[in-house]
Amino acid sequence: MFIDSHCHIDFPELAERADELMSAMRDNQVSHALCVSVNLPHWPNVIAMAERYPHVYASVGVHPDYEDEIEPTVEQLVELAQHPKVIAIGETGLDYYRLQGDLEWQRERFRVHIRAARATGKPLIIHTRSASEDTLRIMAEEKASEASGVMHCFTESQAVADAAIAQNFYISFSGIVTFKKAEELKEVARTIPLERMLIETDSPYLAPVPFRGKQNHPALVRHVAEHIADLRGISVAEVAAATTANFARLFKLEGKLA
Ligand SMILES: [Zn+2]
Ligand SMILES: [Zn+2]
Repeated sequence: MFIDSHCHIDFPELAERADELMSAMRDNQVSHALCVSVNLPHWPNVIAMAERYPHVYASVGVHPDYEDEIEPTVEQLVELAQHPKVIAIGETGLDYYRLQGDLEWQRERFRVHIRAARATGKPLIIHTRSASEDTLRIMAEEKASEASGVMHCFTESQAVADAAIAQNFYISFSGIVTFKKAEELKEVARTIPLERMLIETDSPYLAPVPFRGKQNHPALVRHVAEHIADLRGISVAEVAAATTANFARLFKLEGKLA
């Protein structure tokens, strides 16, 4: 069984075919998916997915690319995280690629999410792009290691992966790892400890090879696993077992994954 640790099936283009996506998951041995929140106005759609489908979990948080949102407070995130299907805080983090200028608000928002994660004991889903130094620094300053979490859709260097693992984090690979030119990333996927690895689609974006350029969805996560198995010279069953066990351990679902 495979688990898609990060998808956006609440987005309209996927939500409108949700039943079909669930049966595609079953057909491809994808047992669970984590539907990740990007802002609070649309959070009801995220939690609705988790309420409708037993094998879908949810997170709560505001993505760093959403500039014009009302800033969430620690209290607000803690309260929304009480829902039994909410297993993580995020996605949060820093993105200096999409947005430029004075991004102090992004760093402050990131700190709020880390504090909410520590207060709830729920792990963080961290998005970092062109901002790894500040991301790792703020994680350390705010003691994100106490909450743990995942560096999602990882595209950074081996050194950043090692530093995140040293802060008690997991590394999640998306379809990007299947792209021909992602040589440095393939090397990271080849060498990090298997017990620190997760897999994801980040759908509807970033469909893995051989579906590159098409609409992505959770069932395609098995292609990410197959590619990593090839890279490491191990069986896909081994990647599936390890990443599923890691997901359960990180999100405190051991013995509870129905
Ligand atoms: Zn992201
Ligand atoms: Zn995402």
